[in-house]
Amino acid sequence: MTRMLIIGGGLAGGTAAEALRDEGFDGEITVVAAEAHPPYQRPPLSKGYLAGDEGLDAVILHPAAWYADRGIRLVTGVAATSLDPSAHVVELDSGERLEYDSVLLATGATPRMIPLAGHDLAGVATLRRLDDSDALAAQLRDGGRRLAVIGAGWIGMEVAATARGFGNDVTILERDAVPLAAALGAEMGEVFRRLHLEHGVDLRTSVGIDRIVGADRAEGVVVDGETIPADLVLVGVGAIPNTALAEAAGLELQNGVLVDAALRTSAPDVFAAGDVANAFHPVIQRHLRSEHWANALNAGKVAARSMLGQSVSFDDIPYFYTDQYDLGMELSGYAPLMADAAIVVRGDLEAREFIAFWTDAVSPGEAGRVVAGMNVNVWDVNEQVQALIRAGERVDPDRLRDPAVPLEDL
Ligand code: FAD
Repeated sequence: MTRMLIIGGGLAGGTAAEALRDEGFDGEITVVAAEAHPPYQRPPLSKGYLAGDEGLDAVILHPAAWYADRGIRLVTGVAATSLDPSAHVVELDSGERLEYDSVLLATGATPRMIPLAGHDLAGVATLRRLDDSDALAAQLRDGGRRLAVIGAGWIGMEVAATARGFGNDVTILERDAVPLAAALGAEMGEVFRRLHLEHGVDLRTSVGIDRIVGADRAEGVVVDGETIPADLVLVGVGAIPNTALAEAAGLELQNGVLVDAALRTSAPDVFAAGDVANAFHPVIQRHLRSEHWANALNAGKVAARSMLGQSVSFDDIPYFYTDQYDLGMELSGYAPLMADAAIVVRGDLEAREFIAFWTDAVSPGEAGRVVAGMNVNVWDVNEQVQALIRAGERVDPDRLRDPAVPLEDL
């Protein structure tokens, strides 16, 4: 009987297991998950789940019994410790040894900890797991606390918004000149700066963060010589792909586990998907590691089909969303192409109701191909935005910015 093994019980691992059965595979499936919970969604951990609006049921993909009903063996609270691609064997920290025919690495990523004095004090947190979100909620939900967020990235900004919703004082400390600059560039990052300032966040950019101070637990963050008092410090400075297993197994690595468009690693019968995988994107002809929900969801499905020997190519346009206060946003596009792109805005930037398009036009006013699009508080346009990107045709910027021209006519 053919044996499929999935290492990592996150979104990519969970959807891969589901897709294997949906594709009609009736052999053995084992999912090895280091966390105690069945696979779950992480986006609510900084938003609805942290705010208490969504419960555990809404966050987990399926309860444990669902896997048992489908003959999927879900091993929780156990980590894989080694992978031997030539012997087709994985060892677990429980002492169990699993033989496989195909294995999927869906080990995700771990929050980066900033190398500052005081980072190991109690009250200094990162956010990745359900348990992290529970611990944060316990400290923030009654309001009246002082939260310092180090890093104005997505997770830091989302937690800041949720913490303000509970009535906490929030300071965000960012080394760059503009929040979210790495993801969106300066012009669009400013939209999020204004949003947070209007909601009472003390958002400080271009700061030099010296250290976290406190006796037994964090009491503040020293920034350019000034101490910002804090009861809690959240560090949100990015995540590092969990490649230890792949590295020890001798797989090719480069900003994650390197895979082709069929999500195959450099070793036969070993696949990788989700945050850990740096996959070749057939449209832009370069590798792309996407740390987004939709990537984990859809790559998990494609990996399952690839493991079954189907001819597949994962060519989704990367997609991301965020919710902060009353702002909802969707972003589709190729991050590596956004840095040098020109931005064309359709709608009202000040009112935060617009679509921003990134185009590869060489100079302003020139027609260019749309490489990314972000709709802010404008809904049901994502399909059209993705169609524009996929079409790859030059678009006149005046028509792009004119709301009277339907997106499908561009
Ligand atoms: P993970 O979800 O990290 O799962 C990997 C699992 O593998 C983990 O449980 C890990 O413990 C386990 N594991 C690791 N090593 C081993 C081992 N050796 N043996 C067994 N198990 C192992 N994306 C969006 O698009 N929009 C959002 O709004 C958004 N919000 C987010 C908010 C938060 C707080 C976080 C943390 C992420 C957010 N994301 C968002 C990103 C999105 O959640 C991730 O891209 C997605 O979870 C990646 O899924 P994954 O399955 O690749 O990895």
